[in-house]
Amino acid sequence: MAIMTRDFGLDDLNDPKIAAELVKKQALAMGADSVGIGNIERWAGAPTQMDPRQIMPEAKSIIGFTFRVNRGSLRGIEEGTFFSNYSAMGYGGITYLYMPMTVINLSKYIEDRGYEAIPYGHQSDWKGIDGEGYSNHMSVPVASGRAAPDVAVHLRIAAYLCGLGEIGLSKMFLSPQFGPRNRVGIVITDLELEPDPIYDGPELCNKCGACVTQCPGNAFDPNNMIKVNLAGHDVEWANIDCAACNIAFRGAELTDDEIKPEDRYMEHGDFSNKPGDWSPFKNKPRNLYNTGQAVCGARGCTRACMISMDARGVLENKFKEKFRRRPQWKVDWENPPANPSDAIYRESAILTDAD
Ligand code: SF4
Ligand code: SF4
Repeated sequence: MAIMTRDFGLDDLNDPKIAAELVKKQALAMGADSVGIGNIERWAGAPTQMDPRQIMPEAKSIIGFTFRVNRGSLRGIEEGTFFSNYSAMGYGGITYLYMPMTVINLSKYIEDRGYEAIPYGHQSDWKGIDGEGYSNHMSVPVASGRAAPDVAVHLRIAAYLCGLGEIGLSKMFLSPQFGPRNRVGIVITDLELEPDPIYDGPELCNKCGACVTQCPGNAFDPNNMIKVNLAGHDVEWANIDCAACNIAFRGAELTDDEIKPEDRYMEHGDFSNKPGDWSPFKNKPRNLYNTGQAVCGARGCTRACMISMDARGVLENKFKEKFRRRPQWKVDWENPPANPSDAIYRESAILTDAD
């Protein structure tokens, strides 16, 4: 019996309209929650280090996808009782497992038919931008006029340019299906596909400001708006203090009290810090996957936004019950509650030699 392999040279993607429909159906069947297409001309004027044409100069289309974060993955943080699921299944699992499966499989579908396709998710670790790599002379462009390694396509902007939704005041990408509960992936390809219009549906961000007031890191400055023009559309979002988010999202609060490094909530860094009242952990939990450590559970930029959108009923993915069901909790670190010594699971979890 001969080996079996895939069919190559299939010739059904020559018409951009038909190809777009076929590719979108495949993407949904492969696990994307929404899929849209932007023609490469929409990236005209992109900064060099964010320009997909630097990666594939012959690119004709970008296919954008959203992958929903299950609302249930935020339930445990919302109730204050189960924190790892959002990091593990909510975005770590999507970023490192689920999304790559879809963008790789769709790229294979396109390459089987003779067009090149780059599967692109959140793994862009050798960044030449906004990290210190390039500016620290850890890399150089391979030739004058080319971008430094590694070009990082702005995924939220890509989702916007593929017609998948809006960028909110919080700079979170908001889809009409899931609001801020999305991870975004793309495929860059030299396949010509009929583009989708830029999103022009019901207003998703109404500038309610809940993301700003609920962010434990006070990371948003709505008086300092970042304004960009994307394919002829004016888009703006609040300036974000990424350093402040970087500390607060892990559950840490800066303090003027001098705390020895080994007694700090986060040992790393040269700043004195303690657990904020939005963290029940005495020390920052270890990372899940490469990055997962979202103790704040995106209290402002995601959960407050979900509650705002819940109240307005604007999302397509509707639920029988509201997301927020009880008052928001805070940990009183001056008088922390005792562990629940009478909880049944503590008894039942103890294994004996007879087990
Ligand atoms: S919380 Fe309100 S202002 Fe912030 S992004 Fe969501 S809808 Fe926009
Ligand atoms: S992740 Fe948390 S700290 Fe960061 S912007 Fe969102 S709400 Fe603020």
